Amino acid sequence: MSVRRTLSRVVYGSRYDRVPWGQRVYVRPGERLAREIQWRLRVRRAPVMRFQDYRERTLLGEIEEFVTCHLCGETRQQPMFQPAGDRRGWSYRVVRCPTCGFLYRNPNIRPDRLGDLYATGYSGFLTGKYAANRQRRYRLTMDAFGPVFSSGQGRRLLDFGCGTGLFLQLAEQRGFDAVGIDLSPDSVAAANERLTGARAHLGAPEDVPEVAAGGFDVITLWSVLAHLPRPLDDFRRFRALLAPGGVLLVLTVNAASLQLKAYGSGWNGFTRNHLMFYSAETVPALLRRTGFAGVAFAPFYGDTVEANTTRLPEPLNRRLRRNVEISDGGNMLRALAFADDEAVGRWGANLQVRRLT
Ligand SMILES: [Zn+2]
Repeated sequence: MSVRRTLSRVVYGSRYDRVPWGQRVYVRPGERLAREIQWRLRVRRAPVMRFQDYRERTLLGEIEEFVTCHLCGETRQQPMFQPAGDRRGWSYRVVRCPTCGFLYRNPNIRPDRLGDLYATGYSGFLTGKYAANRQRRYRLTMDAFGPVFSSGQGRRLLDFGCGTGLFLQLAEQRGFDAVGIDLSPDSVAAANERLTGARAHLGAPEDVPEVAAGGFDVITLWSVLAHLPRPLDDFRRFRALLAPGGVLLVLTVNAASLQLKAYGSGWNGFTRNHLMFYSAETVPALLRRTGFAGVAFAPFYGDTVEANTTRLPEPLNRRLRRNVEISDGGNMLRALAFADDEAVGRWGANLQVRRLT
């Protein structure tokens, strides 16, 4: 038994052993507060370094570059984590911006070498249980934002980073005039085999005339945001591609997750190809700087909780929901960005919209 497991047995007893790993930190009594305090101490203890000093003390890989905070321009670096995986086949450093709190990989991947990360295909993730679980997550996220996604009739949708078309398939079923783009030829080919009305294209938005024409009512970024090395450039482009009244949906790992606060470098959001880690604190800065008018968030309780298939006893289920809400600490972040006031007026009625202008 690992030290961590032994320790948590001592603190919490064995009654939480059967609670799935991803739910434990939300249901053990007192743990939320303990992890929040632990996080604050961790931030306070981490040194704040001048950019020059950080560069001198940090190794730079061949496909990497040093970056400063994309969101606020701060150059100082606060080293926080060093995730590693696949038996140390990969590892990187994650810093915190001491001014705005943004977490990002530094050194980061040079945009022109991004393709190196995706050299091996995703063919293992095309079908079966993985596909079913993904599509369930898409449905739950759409439902969390009310009527925005209930009917696509007459509306244009762009799925940026569409992969093998699992979401495009749902979008065409709901009547959207849907188009997707992706940088992986294998994925695009698989998507077009799956789809009947929707189309998937290879390349960047400006390479595909149907996409470059813009006028989209909806843009979706499913687990894409954390992979973008130049988020400001991309979001300015997304804003320009949206029609008046348009919205942009984001699903990404949540940098305010209670699981990150608990597991640190071992957090499952630190995957091999993730570059930047957003929270409800930092997403508004990105949207404000790129011309969006408002944003609404939907707390993420976990797929089985939201689909009502969890085995958690009801009292623990309630405790989980409460702790996710109080800490803003669900493991995923779900945000709906509004292009302009018209979008806020049309879709924001039952949501808590944070104005950005
Ligand atoms: Zn910053």
